[in-house]
Amino acid sequence: MSVRPKMRELSPEERKAGFDEVEKGLALHQALPEASRCLFCHEAPCVSGCVAGVDVVGFVRRLKTRNFVGAARLIREANVFSAVCSRVCPSEEQCEKPCSSTNLAEPIAISALHRFVADEELKRGIRPEKAGTPTGKKVAVIGAGPAGLTCAHKLARLGHEVTVFEAEEKPGGLMVYGIPRYRLPSEIAEAEIEYAISPGVNLKTGVLVGKDIPFDEIRRNSDAVFIGVGLGYKSQLDIPGHDLPGVLQAGEFLRKAALGDPPELSGRVAVIGGGNVAMDAACSAVRAGASEVVVLYRRREEEMPAWKREREFAKTEGVEFRYLTAPQRFVEKDRKVAGIECVSTKLGEPDSSGRPRPEFIPGTEHVIDVSYVILATGQGPWPEISSVFGGIRFNASGTIKVSPETLATSIEGVFAGGDAVNGGKTVVQAVADGKLAAKSINDFLS
Ligand SMILES: Cc1cc2nc3c(=O)[nH]c(=O)nc-3n(C[C@H](O)[C@H](O)[C@H](O)COP(=O)(O)OP(=O)(O)OC[C@H]3O[C@@H](n4cnc5c(N)ncnc54)[C@H](O)[C@@H]3O)c2cc1C
Repeated sequence: MSVRPKMRELSPEERKAGFDEVEKGLALHQALPEASRCLFCHEAPCVSGCVAGVDVVGFVRRLKTRNFVGAARLIREANVFSAVCSRVCPSEEQCEKPCSSTNLAEPIAISALHRFVADEELKRGIRPEKAGTPTGKKVAVIGAGPAGLTCAHKLARLGHEVTVFEAEEKPGGLMVYGIPRYRLPSEIAEAEIEYAISPGVNLKTGVLVGKDIPFDEIRRNSDAVFIGVGLGYKSQLDIPGHDLPGVLQAGEFLRKAALGDPPELSGRVAVIGGGNVAMDAACSAVRAGASEVVVLYRRREEEMPAWKREREFAKTEGVEFRYLTAPQRFVEKDRKVAGIECVSTKLGEPDSSGRPRPEFIPGTEHVIDVSYVILATGQGPWPEISSVFGGIRFNASGTIKVSPETLATSIEGVFAGGDAVNGGKTVVQAVADGKLAAKSINDFLS
């Protein structure tokens, strides 16, 4: 039996009733003994597992002595989006992974302890930060996701005048428009966005750079620029019937759900794809009224890009997985999608992604009856990115080319980070990039 404490969570039946947060956090009587299990290793391998550099040993020690405020401040200095990351980080692959190398039976539940501390801080209210002594330098940040907001926060505290340009009405990027509410409630993201802009960051929302204001104008009016525009969702699966009513794009579906207005679904819903976006779409479909949700994937579970914990979570929600199944066309009935003609696949030689190529098995065509389909074929760079940010060099994949040491782009004084550079990773990686870029920009301006 596991020695790690388990958070209280909603039952599968309760989850179907809406988008309420599933995990409810640890109680004090669980958190304190778990903190006491920490060996407080001198080398602290857990810290090397956190790209934001959170002093795990330091915060666990403070928690153990009930110094909740001190623990929260220590984490927040390293990570502006502390409470968000305590909910969404794949910690089993990050801080908790090297903890397994110690002689503990099981790694410390670092993520759950982090969440306990962050939630204690939220209960008391996060203390806002003050702007630094003015330097007279102006910095423009394009994109108010975790990368852009972290960079803006750090630079404002150093005394630079920072303006953030954000295309959407609300700041937050995918923390607000992507990650489902049952994993990250909107009030958690909003409280930390408020904290991020607290040191006097100017925020201009509803401004799409490249349309409402040219990039060149922003450059002319600033001493340095940070680009953190993230990614878009990849275009739809181009097979016959893809434009039928009832065939939904995961990006739009998740966006509506995250904003509290999910499309109403019914009957069997098929989700096509094998990444984290597909898992979120499947579990959101469960909440949006589907009686049955089935994920169709061309390879096996071993090749799925979705994190293991996301796949396991979907299974606990009753989502069915059909592997080695490739859709060929959508079947229409009464001017709406009513089925998917699929073919079974077998795996061949590795393709350019390094994964075995799925090959169709002739004669295995079959139709799966569905009421709705959600296409979740992943994310990719915004198609217009190279024309908006003229003069910047890009990688063949469409991501922005930067120096890994400084995040400087090919234009002097212009830096970039987050998903637009790494091709789509995590919130904590975007935070780490925002911090590194702020340091590089400050060095550049000094
Ligand atoms: C469905 C989904 C679930 C996810 N779940 C997790 C998870 O559980 N854990 C995790 O760690 N990560 C998760 N991620 C990934 C994570 O959300 C991203 O890695 C992270 O948000 C990237 O931050 P960013 O600041 O680079 O970009 P974003 O968060 O995408 O923010 C970019 C911002 O730039 C704005 N923008 C774009 N173009 C312009 C322009 N021309 N002018 C002005 N503004 C512009 C956008 O509107 C957006 O607000 C998930 C992603 C998705 C899609």
